[in-house]
Amino acid sequence: MTPESTVRAIEWVARAEAAYLGLALGDALGATVEFLTPREIRSQYGVHRELRGGGWLRLKPGQVTDDTTMSLALGAAILADGGTVQPLSCAHAFDGWMRAKPIDIGNTVRRNLITFRGSGDPCAPPSENDAGNGAAMRVLPVALGTLGREEAAVRGAVRAQAHVTHNNASSDAASEFLALAVQDFVRGEPLRQVYRRRLIPLLDARPEFRYKGRRRENPSGWIVESLQAVLQALMETDGFEACLVNVTNRGGDADTTGAIAGMLAGAFYGADAIPARWLRALDPTVREACRSQARALVAVAATAAIA
Ligand code: MG
Ligand code: MG
Repeated sequence: MTPESTVRAIEWVARAEAAYLGLALGDALGATVEFLTPREIRSQYGVHRELRGGGWLRLKPGQVTDDTTMSLALGAAILADGGTVQPLSCAHAFDGWMRAKPIDIGNTVRRNLITFRGSGDPCAPPSENDAGNGAAMRVLPVALGTLGREEAAVRGAVRAQAHVTHNNASSDAASEFLALAVQDFVRGEPLRQVYRRRLIPLLDARPEFRYKGRRRENPSGWIVESLQAVLQALMETDGFEACLVNVTNRGGDADTTGAIAGMLAGAFYGADAIPARWLRALDPTVREACRSQARALVAVAATAAIA
């Protein structure tokens, strides 16, 4: 390795860790206000900006939900398979996660995992209705484990994990966009370039995701509304904390918009932008799991790229 490539590898790992921590922090921040309206959030908290727990799940401060724990389960399966995304391994990982009785679980995830138990087929049937954000919210370990691979291979890996529970064109388009944008940010590419290379083509191909115009408040679990809220928050703000505060104070599916915004903003702004008080408040077991899994996924991606 040349000194330049060593420095680059260190920067990539730091941004990958920041993306994973961002996912968990956005999840923990948003879970407090999940299903509240912006008006309810204002009257209870003013601006909600602390990892205080509570919410409808009665969380401890810094506790995360399915968005983070499903990602960690998926990442463990990818690592066990040497950096490849095997649908059957993903399905078993999610099924094992569900058997451990997570504190929350999406309806589409539950329904299609129960179908998988009966059929053994790790690909859910295509459905117009399965356009929830459940596959997109857990896409980060795929992005990190396939860093450096051809775009078509990244897209294929994204769909392989997504289709275990969500076999839907909107979900696929959003999940593929998120994985590729995170990879660009991890490589240090500027927002302008990611906008031109990833976002414009997404909006051309899938106009339902167009996000300019009316402020998206109360985003539902529909991936279209979730991603619109995330994109507005990312484009309206100029820092990691501001982006996550912006998106979670919109209420609705706030843990998931927080998680998705967190993975993008973490990769984009990097580790130094993450507030120390949030890192201290985050569940320490989750914090270490995110860091070590991010490192392991980037390492396995680098090994695969050399081989
Ligand atoms: Mg959740
Ligand atoms: Mg949610």
